[in-house]
Amino acid sequence: MATHSREMSCKELVELLTEYLEETLPPQDKARFEEHLAICPGCRTYLDQMRTTIGALGRLQEGSIPSQVKEDLLGVFRAWKA
Ligand SMILES: [Zn+2]
Repeated sequence: MATHSREMSCKELVELLTEYLEETLPPQDKARFEEHLAICPGCRTYLDQMRTTIGALGRLQEGSIPSQVKEDLLGVFRAWKA
């Protein structure tokens, strides 16, 4: 599929972040995720913020980041993109 060769977008990375942090991402997606991190300082910052947030919450609850937290971080992320 064509999607396998194209670079991951920042939006895709955000979508996959929960799975990445839970280490449930399939190997090929994880590779693309880490490829994107290598070239995108903004997403590295985002990942760090997410890890800090999750650390503050204690742990992931029922395998998902609370939607409000995710929305807040997406707002930060959009501000950074602009
Ligand atoms: Zn990015």
